[in-house]
Amino acid sequence: MTTTYRNCIGGEWLVPSTRRYFTNHNPADTSDRIGRFPDSGPADVERAVAAALRAFETWRRVPAPARGDLLRRLGDLLAADKEDLAAGMTREMGKVLAETRGDVQEGIDTAYYAASEGRRLFGRTAPSELRAKWAMSWRRPIGVCGLITPFNFPLAIPTWKMFPALVCGNTVVLKPSEDVPWTAHRLVELATEAGFPPGVINLVHGRGAVAGRALVEHPRVPVLSFTGSTTTGAGIGATAGRMHKRLSLEMGGKNALIVMDDADLDLALEGVLWGAFGTTGQRCTATSRLLLHRKIHDRFLSRLADRASRLRLGDGRAAGTEMGPLIHEAARAKVEAYVAIGEEEGAELVTGGKRPRGARLARGWFYPPTIFAGVRPGSRLEQEEIFGPVLSVVRIGSLEEAIRVNNGVRYGLSSALYTRDGGAAFQALERLDNGITYINAPTIGAEAHLPFGGVKDTGNGHREGGWEVYEFYSETKVGYVDYSGALQRAQIDNYDAGPAAR
Ligand code: NAD
Repeated sequence: MTTTYRNCIGGEWLVPSTRRYFTNHNPADTSDRIGRFPDSGPADVERAVAAALRAFETWRRVPAPARGDLLRRLGDLLAADKEDLAAGMTREMGKVLAETRGDVQEGIDTAYYAASEGRRLFGRTAPSELRAKWAMSWRRPIGVCGLITPFNFPLAIPTWKMFPALVCGNTVVLKPSEDVPWTAHRLVELATEAGFPPGVINLVHGRGAVAGRALVEHPRVPVLSFTGSTTTGAGIGATAGRMHKRLSLEMGGKNALIVMDDADLDLALEGVLWGAFGTTGQRCTATSRLLLHRKIHDRFLSRLADRASRLRLGDGRAAGTEMGPLIHEAARAKVEAYVAIGEEEGAELVTGGKRPRGARLARGWFYPPTIFAGVRPGSRLEQEEIFGPVLSVVRIGSLEEAIRVNNGVRYGLSSALYTRDGGAAFQALERLDNGITYINAPTIGAEAHLPFGGVKDTGNGHREGGWEVYEFYSETKVGYVDYSGALQRAQIDNYDAGPAAR
């Protein structure tokens, strides 16, 4: 029998006010039903925000190091549950076990990092312009944070948002992707076990256009953090602007990996395979463009096509599987539409481009690694995010040209350069318009303690991961203490009296 799950609101597991549910399936075998999850409505969001508001009044007064201790405990619980979590995540999301283990590990690292930030939410003291007066600033929590997350990192991305928000003293309402609700359920279960007080973490399942939208539009939710597609993010941005909300957006990418003629080609080959086809190309940082120097173009491409065509597709839990399915039918249809666009645009299909054969793979949303060569800069295949295992190869003649092509898209998440030339490496770091640039490593592989995010249409200037995110989830407060016993006027009102008089 299929298990029916509930929302977590104010520490209670509640059925949705709508009494409606959606069923989640395994993308590698759609006959495998994972569970029924609440198809929540605005009334559920309303309850969750009310619970989060009540909890905020006490949670904000818990000392930050103590808030951090709870996150450390949660990190320990995630570590203890890593194998089971990873297996469940692969079942619901499709990527191979090694990758879901990595996804959990990112959550563990984020928990431990956040725990330590509880002892480091530094403010500043500065000398005052006046005698017998102290001037200082510190960080304050803001309130209820609405967190909306995508399917591709079912655990890591919710933790990137939730843990810093909590350490800073906020309470949260999480609306996870409807494609990976089980992982969010487990995360909140473990958080409850770790001892977070009721209402500090609330979970509302449901569709983006209903539950997500109600959260975005709720007037008592002053902070929103969204990761997902640029189209959805743009709509959320419009609402947040109108309602004066603080908003972090992490959106699409069209990441390029450049291989120069002096590169270590064996190393670059491994990097391209991992960057382009890891997570079935469904990473925001996935390598979706390969810019190959003309001198190594043909030999590199033939080795790449050979290796890519031999990647083993299957259920991510089975030993030996190298690439799982796409997340759902619409994702595969989108990939197929772009393969047709590539052909219409005159790109050369080198490998893949057709659904795989066989009864085993027919049970899920599988699609093979697909490579197009001769892709024209400016074409749709080269410009638009596909979010699947499709790699577009562009021939380039110089680093200058590679930089121009890399920068010629609307997105700016990550980029990579393979070269043995130190000068070229530094030029790339400086001139590639991306939030993250890797030298001699693929476009994927963020570390939990470094800022993560992109420029241009990928984001709106904020970062996740690292210390910068703690600024997003807190507000600067300034305090002055005058112990002179006299009315001292600030320099702006007192400047002409001269330094000695102040
Ligand atoms: P999506 O935009 O379809 O959904 C993301 C989340 O938004 C889901 O929880 C969904 O329910 C919700 N949502 C949808 N419509 C909404 C609305 N009107 N109001 C409020 N919430 C709404 O994205 P997806 O398919 O889950 O994820 C893939 C996308 O995410 C890709 O574009 C990828 O590049 C991007 N992504 C970006 C990053 C990054 O850090 N830049 C990381 C991972 C994924």
